Amino acid sequence: MPEIPEVEITTRRLGAALAGAAVESTLAPGMVAMKTVTPPLDSLVGQTIEGARRIGKMPVIEFAGADGRWDLLVHLMSAGRLQVFDKHASLKDRRSRVLIRLADGRELRLREFGTKQRAWAKLLGDGEVERDEMVATLGPEAWPAPPLEALAAAVDQPRHLHPLLRDQRAIAGIGRSWVDEILWEARMSPFRKGSELTSEEVERLYDGLAVLGAAIDHYEDVIGEQVPDKLPMPLKVHRREGEPCPRCGTTIEAVYFAEHQTNYCPAEQTGGRVLKDRRLSRLLK
Ligand SMILES: [Zn+2]
Repeated sequence: MPEIPEVEITTRRLGAALAGAAVESTLAPGMVAMKTVTPPLDSLVGQTIEGARRIGKMPVIEFAGADGRWDLLVHLMSAGRLQVFDKHASLKDRRSRVLIRLADGRELRLREFGTKQRAWAKLLGDGEVERDEMVATLGPEAWPAPPLEALAAAVDQPRHLHPLLRDQRAIAGIGRSWVDEILWEARMSPFRKGSELTSEEVERLYDGLAVLGAAIDHYEDVIGEQVPDKLPMPLKVHRREGEPCPRCGTTIEAVYFAEHQTNYCPAEQTGGRVLKDRRLSRLLK
């Protein structure tokens, strides 16, 4: 699932590659991918791509032309990718969701891996992105980290930090991978409640958000012009159960949920306690 670091490097590379390119034609082979009908996707034909930006976990491609400006707001969901290719996609490629063909022969392609069609795009007029419900309801951006007071207010909810930090309405841009890294950096249990944090713990959480910037720096070093399908994510604890904690050597543990897992260092995050496996406790109820 692309989160802030992955989407940030994607929009940086797309912006650099696409700025100034003219749109020749458009196509939306993913029948349900376009969530807006007005203006139609073809109104981009003849327009020029100005750049790309990121809002939370969502990339935005910016277009401009004689008739005005448009933003293509994209949600990659868990398996979407937004990339530029030198050639047009085969029409048989079942992963294609939205294709923006460029006058220079290249193609901006929203693809999705797996069988589900969940990734989507919305073509919005100038200034409409900020009013879109997916954007207007977002909490403060997790990177760059919000001011300490804003972070304290964002997490002041009686919920466990693991779901709370992934709730885009509380704080924007964090998902299942980076939440584990942030909590490990902050030496905090995924099951600590946001409203119970002391001001010192909020400061630790604030410092923990720096992993997002460090990941972006890492991607800047290792990613070339084309963002690969699978990014080399510099994760230290997420999905590393059974491996030694890179800081203290204690074995990294996991708690499994129906569709995801959280990993943590028991010595540094849960006072030495190994947490119950949620799958087992649900079965035993
Ligand atoms: Zn540790």
